[in-house]
Amino acid sequence: MPIYEYLSESPEDPERSCRICRQGFELRRPVDRPALEQCPLCRFPVRKVISKVNTPRIAKPLSVSDAKSAGFTVLERRDQGVYEKL
Ligand SMILES: [Zn+2]
Repeated sequence: MPIYEYLSESPEDPERSCRICRQGFELRRPVDRPALEQCPLCRFPVRKVISKVNTPRIAKPLSVSDAKSAGFTVLERRDQGVYEKL
């Protein structure tokens, strides 16, 4: 079941958002259910945050070995204007 992230339509307006949807919240919903349109707590409109779906919360920095195994050529700066292929 995918996890969707929702955020208040007006997070800067305390009259139209609550502590939950102001910061955004995650919700597990079956794919065949319609998207949530209201905050379950305060009933004000929320929108789905698309960009965060399927994105890890903490982005791992790409290591040299990861980059190499992904097929990237890793260049490391050795000297002024000189790059060595590793
Ligand atoms: Zn709310």
